[in-house]
Amino acid sequence: MDINKKLHLVSLGCNKNLIDSEVMLGRLKSYALTDNANEADVLIVNTCGFIGAAKEESLRTIFSLHEQRKKDSLLVVSGCLSERYKEQLIKELPEVDIFTGVGDYDHIDSIVEERKNRFSHETYLINSEERVITGSNIHAYIKLSEGCNQQCSFCAIPSFKGRLKSREIESIVKEVEKLTKQGVWDFSFISQDSSSYMRDKNINDGLILLIEAIEKIEGMKSARILYLYPTTTSDALILRIIASSVFHNYFDMPVQHIDDNMLKRMKRGANAKRIKEQLSLMRSAADSFVRTSFIVGHPKESAEEFENLLKFTKEFEFDRVNIFAYSDEEGTAAFDMDGKITKKVLNERIKKLEKAVHEGMLKRLKAQINTKAVLVIEGESSEHDLLLGARKLECIGEIDGEILINESEISGLKTGDMVEALITDIAGDKLVAAVTKFI
Ligand code: SF4
Repeated sequence: MDINKKLHLVSLGCNKNLIDSEVMLGRLKSYALTDNANEADVLIVNTCGFIGAAKEESLRTIFSLHEQRKKDSLLVVSGCLSERYKEQLIKELPEVDIFTGVGDYDHIDSIVEERKNRFSHETYLINSEERVITGSNIHAYIKLSEGCNQQCSFCAIPSFKGRLKSREIESIVKEVEKLTKQGVWDFSFISQDSSSYMRDKNINDGLILLIEAIEKIEGMKSARILYLYPTTTSDALILRIIASSVFHNYFDMPVQHIDDNMLKRMKRGANAKRIKEQLSLMRSAADSFVRTSFIVGHPKESAEEFENLLKFTKEFEFDRVNIFAYSDEEGTAAFDMDGKITKKVLNERIKKLEKAVHEGMLKRLKAQINTKAVLVIEGESSEHDLLLGARKLECIGEIDGEILINESEISGLKTGDMVEALITDIAGDKLVAAVTKFI
């Protein structure tokens, strides 16, 4: 490492983008990482281009780094925003020295060397490249595939990430084996559409094959799968996850809506009856954790269709829900639809849904008081420096909520420790726990 050469990287958007950023860090290992943009020789923004709010955040970050950068530094913009709007951005953002998209993360070192824009046609999919795991010593995200074959009316991702391309199971197993040797023992398997894993190779339920391969890896303690898609999530897969000794009863399946007319309009392929069957099968698992996401305000969403969604969130209590306001994305089927919902109505609906979802989540949390749980210590809590923060072993701290540790029968707790605890109370929408022993 040449400590005289400094790199500042900002990774925006989703955890899939984070993996690509970690690959870039692996390729640029000769640079010393710095948190100070004003001392960096190379500044990289790995952007998100999914919806309006994310695009605005990407542009704000580019301009902010440009303002902070030192003379003769190099400002590089990569990722989904750059891929989706390459021509426009190259024309309109002279501040940026190099643009690259979603196809060249494993060539970032030569791109920086040559100081030239680069947009390969193929979407990059990690294989055995070295990456720098960020954020934790014990947990890592693992990418299953890139691209997506679904045709959701509101989503532009297939237009710039391309069609589904699955990694070979051997490639994933090799990466996980390598990481377990580095002390990582908790893994989250992700993609745009995880339950379609291997369908581009004419294999249905590829995830079941993957689960069997991952369970055999020495040092493997804990894992979960995110981004299940309703039409490709079979009962066999749900039951295989439930039967697994390594994969938690953690079910992340974005359903986006529950009204059949809306699901049809959104081109989701699944209907309410099937989704409810899947959710109740997931809920049949002990200690199941079920998370989803909803889109509110899609074109033509009637008051009655929205009421159906609202009613549903009172019937089925989710542990976690992401609520998205519909974003009018050019190049999507919904963009050309009439019957756009006004901002006023959209905000009213979001408020109502947030309230209903929050009530359901609180019920789920309160039901855990006076129960024992296996937790992972995550360090100082976000609430108070005298409190430790933790997560349930099956969950991901940054997206599934923090647990506050206010008592402990044992001393010397440190980040990454796995402990048994008693859930004693709830503070706002955070559980409070007392640690009883190490595991
Ligand atoms: S599953 Fe739908 S929402 Fe998700 S990336 Fe594919 S098209 Fe977009």
